[in-house]
Amino acid sequence: MKIGIIGTGYVGLPSGVGFAELGHTVVCVDNNKAKIEALNKGKLTLYENGLADLFKANTEQGRLRFTTSMKEAVQEADLVIIAVGTPPDPITHEADLQYIYAAATELADYLTGYTVIANKSTVPVGTGDAVEKIIASKNPAADFDVVSLPEFLREGFALQDFFNPDRIILGTHSERAISLISKLYEPFKEKTPLLVVSRKSSETIKYASNAFLAMKIHYINEIANFCEKSGANVAEVAKGMGMDKRIGNRFLNAGIGFGGSCFPKDTMAMAHMANKVGVRMELIETTIAGNQKRKKEMADRVYQSLKDLKNPKVAVWGLAFKNGTDDCRQSPAMDIIRELLQKALSITAYDPKAMDTAKAILGDKISYASGMYEAVKGADVLVILTEWPEFSAPDFDELAKRMNRKVIFDLRNMLSCEDAQEADFEYHCIGRKCD
Ligand code: NAD
Repeated sequence: MKIGIIGTGYVGLPSGVGFAELGHTVVCVDNNKAKIEALNKGKLTLYENGLADLFKANTEQGRLRFTTSMKEAVQEADLVIIAVGTPPDPITHEADLQYIYAAATELADYLTGYTVIANKSTVPVGTGDAVEKIIASKNPAADFDVVSLPEFLREGFALQDFFNPDRIILGTHSERAISLISKLYEPFKEKTPLLVVSRKSSETIKYASNAFLAMKIHYINEIANFCEKSGANVAEVAKGMGMDKRIGNRFLNAGIGFGGSCFPKDTMAMAHMANKVGVRMELIETTIAGNQKRKKEMADRVYQSLKDLKNPKVAVWGLAFKNGTDDCRQSPAMDIIRELLQKALSITAYDPKAMDTAKAILGDKISYASGMYEAVKGADVLVILTEWPEFSAPDFDELAKRMNRKVIFDLRNMLSCEDAQEADFEYHCIGRKCD
């Protein structure tokens, strides 16, 4: 199959690599020239586990190409996938659809033969209808279907999820489109259900799923607060809850609040969409507000331990919104750092993969260390904000040697209470007491 992919970000690039690996011919287009230049030189523009090898293999074998020309990506394609951003509007917080509409307008002229336009971007209900109208009015002769094909990959596991999806959701009533997309996912048909629904249901499934997962995270964070007061251990509670198949054991890690480029914007967009049709989604609204509060509370815990010191120094481990990615968009680590900066604390941070993306956001407001032990030099406290595996078993002697005070705020519950206490550290974690 010939596939054109519009947008080479965290969804478009791994998807392009994945479809090429399945044997399709993929042309990815992006209007960011610098990205395409880098990709054409063989340089990846984002970090994602396992992406480098497949990217190299498929570009070398000529199945995967990159261009800034929409025409090149679309003109021979059987399938055009839209994977551009849908960021929140800074004022209303609804999804900003300007990139979707621009992509639809630009691609319309180049359609040849029957083409399926699949929207993988997360878009409000009714966007498929709008995209269809744009294309039909720009190119009345075009033979096409617009389908909703929401993406459920997790950054850090993008390829694993690409090759092992839980489900494929397809929003369309067109038999021709169903047949083409079924063919596309033929290799997964033994293990992955393909659910065909209306376009509007499909668009809703994506938001409803993300909002549900965000609520689950917020819920376990509230349970963690309760455990801290009641003497229970949130890790044990989550394990016990997760053994119930109705609940499931994932998204039950208490921590610093959800973040990333999806949950914050998708919860806001869902609440906004509902309001627009006269439905109040109070659970989601509470989750959004509670999650904002969570990050402030986490920063405050750290601040309270330092506020009486003169020029306190904070070491931070972890900047990405989660491990396995360099993505710092809406990272709770960024929000906590911003809160601490407002208290005029001096911060030195280290992240194994996200130094460049963090620098693009925080600039010189903090210092950056070249390694995890380098970051703690002279620090009055170490704060762990991203759950990178290498942070899970630190050399406490090395930390003690370098730090000014032996205090750790492990806000991802990565370390063992016993190890930290044996090394005589003052150790703070989430939802459990260490005594
Ligand atoms: P991104 O910002 O990383 O990438 C979007 C890319 O599209 C950018 O490279 C941008 O330059 C390009 N672009 C924008 N307009 C274009 C145009 N007219 N022509 C060509 N290129 C254009 O975004 P992302 O994280 O990949 O997310 C894309 C969509 O997928 C969003 O709607 C998001 O909500 C959704 N989604 C994201 C994830 C995730 O984990 N990141 C998971 C599921 C769904």
